[in-house]
Amino acid sequence: MFNDAAIQEILTSITNDDENSFSIIKCMMQGKTTDEEIAEDTEIRLNIVRRVLYKLYDAGIASYKRSKDPETQWYTYNWKFEEKKVFEILDEKYEKISQELNESLIYEEENMFFVCQLNGHRYNFEEASESNFTCGECGAPLEYQDNSAIISELKELKERMN
Ligand SMILES: [Zn+2]
Repeated sequence: MFNDAAIQEILTSITNDDENSFSIIKCMMQGKTTDEEIAEDTEIRLNIVRRVLYKLYDAGIASYKRSKDPETQWYTYNWKFEEKKVFEILDEKYEKISQELNESLIYEEENMFFVCQLNGHRYNFEEASESNFTCGECGAPLEYQDNSAIISELKELKERMN
């Protein structure tokens, strides 16, 4: 799963520490459950392991069970990587991108566009006609833009996502 760039991006955005978080998650997936075990196995400092684990916990990607040692009265935390939650986050992300893509496509198809010849500022027909087809930013004349290339690019992106 770490070969998937989208998953890597999610984990990085959650922990801000991709290298350590990948090692820690791999370690959990191999059955190591306590922070001490993980620290020992990955050779990552215990406080860093804990910090990453709590960040993952905050995002719902890791969970733990706490148990008390009857002899020492110390608590042990057994951590678990919640792989399903990562895929849920991924699904939501794709859903959002695909929705934005659809909206952009509709907007491009339903509008005509005019572009500033100087700086590339872009306006739809309504905006352009309000300013007499001059750029609202710099005053340069606007020129009609054929947006069929943009539309086909959006369509292609949409197809690739499905
Ligand atoms: Zn301009």
